[in-house]
Amino acid sequence: MSDSYCVFGNPIAHSKSPAIHAAFAAATGQDMRYAARLAPVDGFAAAVAEFVAAGGRGANVTVPFKEEAFRLATRLTPRAQRAGAVNTLVFADGEILGDNTDGAGLVADITRNLGIELAGQRILLLGAGGASRGVIAPLLAAGPRSLTIVNRTADKAVALAAAFADIFTVDGGNFANLAGRSFDRVINATSASLGGESLPLPPGIFAPGSLAYDMMYGKGETPFLRQAREAGAAYCADGLGMLVEQAAEAFQVWRGVRPDTQPVLAELRAALAG
Ligand code: NDP
Repeated sequence: MSDSYCVFGNPIAHSKSPAIHAAFAAATGQDMRYAARLAPVDGFAAAVAEFVAAGGRGANVTVPFKEEAFRLATRLTPRAQRAGAVNTLVFADGEILGDNTDGAGLVADITRNLGIELAGQRILLLGAGGASRGVIAPLLAAGPRSLTIVNRTADKAVALAAAFADIFTVDGGNFANLAGRSFDRVINATSASLGGESLPLPPGIFAPGSLAYDMMYGKGETPFLRQAREAGAAYCADGLGMLVEQAAEAFQVWRGVRPDTQPVLAELRAALAG
């Protein structure tokens, strides 16, 4: 019987992960199946236990279970430990290994797919929730000149900056702190685009040649990317590439094989445009 994997979330019906992993498995000749599993909001641990008992080898974890998965893991990779959240689980030898591939996915999408450097750049990260926390260490590992985090609730950005102070001097605050400053890479890790809301970004925030990156994706331009384009960002990209790259990283953790992400990304992009 082929090895079994899944993604846990709630809701989960619209997840693209089953299609992405099916494409990776077909392209690399891996004998595996991957399904979406809806876990009750108060029943994540039980859903994982049931999947493991049925022979499950690994899982992805999405909203709202990433922090619970962090607590459930019996071992953590250093990057999951840093992120305080887990999006990839490996079930082996009675242990639950927790990993986090979101940050690696973001960095791979920006540097490899878009061909845009992070090293030596002034990076602004908008938002201080789970997604923001998960990408900070991989962004710092890319060697930026500076990293600034701002959040609607400033205390959370300040706390997040302090949590990484042992590796880099990260600047944390609220949107008002941005007046008069400009950045080379502006990454939106807020969920403001979900509600169609724009962010209070002062004029001049986008330096010449800058990238605006929205972790959110969907049909058409996201509200943040529209705002960024109108404010002069030179390059605009949504988070579809991050989604595919974090999946490739998880696939490699499970199967030891790195799938080619380009065909899958092109197919998803075409489906969104259609
Ligand atoms: P959280 O709920 O943990 O955090 C949400 C963040 O957005 C908080 O910082 C919150 O600020 C801020 N926020 C929400 N609404 C507004 C608003 N109207 N104005 C300003 N700030 C706002 O969410 P996540 O961190 O898990 O996810 C954030 C986004 O990243 C989502 O859109 C998600 O879909 C996307 N994502 C994409 C991935 C990909 O692979 N492409 C992977 C992971 C996430 P406050 O603290 O003040 O409430």
